[in-house]
Amino acid sequence: MQFIRPANDIDSHCPTCPPTSRRIGTARAGVHFATFIVADPQETEKAMPELPEVEITRRGIEPHVLGRRISSVVVRDSRLRWPIPDSLARTLTSLKVEAVRRRAKYLILELGKGCLIIHLGMSGSLRVLNTGERALPHDHVDIVFGDALLRFRDPRRFGCVIWQAGKAEQHPLLRQLGVEPLGTEFSGHFLHRATRNRKVAIKQLLMNQLVVVGVGNIYASESLFRAGIRPQTRAGRLSRERCITLAGAVVDTLQESLRAGGSSLRDYVQSNGELGCFQLQTMVYDRAGAPCRRCSTPIKELRQGQRSTFYCPSCQK
Ligand SMILES: [Zn+2]
Repeated sequence: MQFIRPANDIDSHCPTCPPTSRRIGTARAGVHFATFIVADPQETEKAMPELPEVEITRRGIEPHVLGRRISSVVVRDSRLRWPIPDSLARTLTSLKVEAVRRRAKYLILELGKGCLIIHLGMSGSLRVLNTGERALPHDHVDIVFGDALLRFRDPRRFGCVIWQAGKAEQHPLLRQLGVEPLGTEFSGHFLHRATRNRKVAIKQLLMNQLVVVGVGNIYASESLFRAGIRPQTRAGRLSRERCITLAGAVVDTLQESLRAGGSSLRDYVQSNGELGCFQLQTMVYDRAGAPCRRCSTPIKELRQGQRSTFYCPSCQK
């Protein structure tokens, strides 16, 4: 068992990390109490890893780590969204990766007696590198597999690396998650059932992780445009037919992004690690005042739940 603490590698914290955003209280995650920090969502969501980026990351790292044993763990900065305990390296060393899964935006390395849950937060990325590759600022954690390593970089440190004994779904962060939008449970009929008697705007319901996971602000806006539905429509007023159209639009939007990401998979996992954004050219998101790509009506912007929403007042009813 080995726990490497690099002495002359990088300082115990990133000197170049931007100052963290305002602190709004404390939250409990598993056994860790930690300060809960919220960034301005507008500022970061365009570059934030969304479900397609996380799924592409999973596909990118899987062939390199599946079936391999962890030989050591390097933690350069434990101060992620939930601090990494000193015991992590001891816990992980010599365990074998039995599966690489994704649930919502959590990546899960199945390690037999437990699992490692990784969230990329707002700026995180995972890369597969050769052991010995020099660490740069923000490269906070290395999971080493002999001659290769999985490197977690996260300039803003909203991501997390958590050990969970037993099944990942037992962790409080994962226990109550809604259905997977690309899974078999998600459909127009599901959405119709989930929206009955709900007065909340459909866009906010789509982004509710207890209903369906991984549909972030950009994908919610784009899916509603595809379905021709105004984002502020009360969820409970949508007909079954419109729910079916909307569920299809969510799946299509995510699938399209996955296809776009698939083509750049090798580049970012194996070389520079810049995750980038796989979102295709957006139809409405971040286009306030610009002409609708379908009908030329200026795109409108409104605030919903402190998030910007974009829609075409002519194409969306
Ligand atoms: Zn339009």
